[in-house]
Formats: sequence, C-alpha cells, structure tokens
Amino acid sequence: MRSIIPFVHQLEDSEAAQWCDALSEQLPECDIRQFCQLNSDEKSGATVAVVANPSPGDVAQLPNLKWVHSVWAGVEGMLASLAHMPFEIVRLTDPQLAQTMSEAVLAWVMYLHRDMPQYRQLQSASQWRQLPYTDPGDRHIVLLGLGALGQKSALRLVDNGFRVSGWSRSAKHMESVRCYSGEQQLSELLSEADIIVSLLPLTRDTESLMDRQFFRQVKTGAALINFGRGASVVEPDLLKALDQGQLSHAVLDVFAQEPLPPESPLWSHPGITLLPHISAPTSIATASPIVAANIIRYLSQGIIPESVDKSRGY
Ligand code: NAP
Repeated sequence: MRSIIPFVHQLEDSEAAQWCDALSEQLPECDIRQFCQLNSDEKSGATVAVVANPSPGDVAQLPNLKWVHSVWAGVEGMLASLAHMPFEIVRLTDPQLAQTMSEAVLAWVMYLHRDMPQYRQLQSASQWRQLPYTDPGDRHIVLLGLGALGQKSALRLVDNGFRVSGWSRSAKHMESVRCYSGEQQLSELLSEADIIVSLLPLTRDTESLMDRQFFRQVKTGAALINFGRGASVVEPDLLKALDQGQLSHAVLDVFAQEPLPPESPLWSHPGITLLPHISAPTSIATASPIVAANIIRYLSQGIIPESVDKSRGY
C-alpha cells in the first residue's frame, strides 16, 4: 500500500502545487496529499508529514506524527508554535542553500568592501571623489554563526582573499578561519571586525543580541550584514549606531516584522541597504530530493534524520 504523506502548509496555492508535484516525482511510491485532502483515517495514519509554516491547528489533527520535515532552514516560527508537540522537527539542510547564501554573503561583502554605498551617494551629489582602496586581506570579516550557512560563507570569503573569523556557540576548528565561541570572546571579536555578517538562528539567546551594548563594542565605522533573523537586531539601537557613526552601513535582509511596514524608518535611512528576505531562497528543485531521501530512509529503515534541539532553539 502507498504511504500517504501529508503536506501541511500555509503557502499560496501555486507554490503548494509546485512542492506537491516535485515531491510526488521524487516519491513515486508515496501519495503526497495536501492536508485539506485527507480524511480522518488518513490523518490518524500519518507518522511523518512535510511542512511549510503549518498551522498548529492542522498539525494537531495528525495525532500519530513521529516527525515533521520542514522545507525551510529556519525553524523558530515552528518551534514557537509546535515545540510542545511530541514529535521531532527536522529542518532542511541543503548544500545548494548554503551555496546560494555564500554567494549572497560574498556579493554584499564586496558591495561594502568596494565602497558602493559611498560611491552611490557621491554620484547623487555629482561629486568626483576617489576613496582609498583597501586590499581584501586587510579587511576583517566576522561571521556570527558558523553552521551550515556560516561555514560555507566563511570559506567563500577566504577564497576571495578576506581575513575571516567566525563565532559560534560551541568551539569549532576550521582551516584558515579563526574560530571563537561563547559570549566573552564576542566582545574581543566585535572590536576587530570591519564587516560583521550575522547568520545566527533566532533563539532565546540571539533575540535582541545586536543591541546598544553590542553596537558600542564594534569598531567605529564597521558595517553590518544581517542575513540571519530580524529579531536579533534591536532596530532603534541600530539606527542610533548608524546616526552616531558607530556603524557606517547596514545591509538588512530580514526584519522582526516581514514584510517591513511602509512606515518603518529603516526604508529611507541613507545608511541602510534593504532587501526583501532574498539572500537564500529554498530551491524546490534541490530541496525536494533531499526531503524525499529522508522520507524514504525513514519508511524503509525507521531512521529519523537529525532533528532540531527544541531546548536549544535551533
Ligand atoms: P545552523 O546550521 O543551525 O547554524 C547556526 C549557527 O549559529 C551555529 O554555528 C551555532 O553554533 C550558532 N549559534 C546559535 N546560537 C548561538 C549563540 N547563542 N551564540 C553563538 N552562536 C550561536 O543554521 P544555518 O543552516 O547555518 O542557518 C542559520 C540561519 O540563517 C537560520 O536559522 C535562518 O534563521 C537563517 N536563514 C536565512 C535565510 C535568508 O534568506 N535570509 C535563508 C536561510 C536561513 P554551534 O555551531 O555551536 O551550534
């Protein structure tokens, strides 16, 4: 009998249909069904589901779930609403996602490194002025978060000649990247960074991490790129750090509230480059075989992939 795998989501119809088609192609021995198409026996029979920002009410109607596979890398939203439920949460780990993020990190580090925000302003003022060139080897990039995305990004920056350090919760060792961990080492690192790139997940510990005290510790004139989660930044403190020249520029892709409301002062601040959460979108083409392989291994061998640590929050 074909296993029925619920797809529980709150996506637009067209995106949901794309996921179902891609998963069905990868899992011909399974029946991928949107939650609304399941009868009550099918809901009770499901032990695994694929999810994309699922409604907790829908998930609660699948009483025998052992695990759910998210099609996204960030899981803070799911943990907030589903952590109390007795099943494992598995997030997407896709090498293509890390590749795409590392491309974005390189692109926006280059944007800051080659002074593009300043040249844009000089052009607006019809000013012909040459800024001094800095060699990438003299530019110290600090990555907050050395996970799947942070490590790949760090290596890509090293390949492009930058001096790179990284910070994580647990100690790490990487060739050609200086690795730091824990709160104490953060201060030291911040005071030496020219460009800080955050690829941190949103947890109790990283929420509001980038606040007044954090910005006070950065080297005067440093720049920030936030590609992790918006709520790690205290927006009024960031604006103050920019206005006071503590920070020279910020590239923001993620926000505490998305879409960013039109009245937000971030939109028009000259020291901010604003992106609509585009640094690393999930690719259905590369993610669906990964999700499918995990489901096949579970159905054939009972193995649940490494899951999110609910107490740690990522
Ligand atoms: P990951 O593999 O779980 O890595 C997270 C990293 O953050 C790890 O190195 C972890 O330390 C570190 N970390 C967590 N809490 C910390 C703390 N309190 N202090 C210091 N370091 C801490 O996650 P990932 O796959 O690299 O993804 C990172 C985040 O990127 C996601 O959670 C998501 O929020 C964001 N993201 C954004 C986009 C976008 O388009 N903007 C796309 C995908 C993902 P340890 O190594 O010691 O565990």
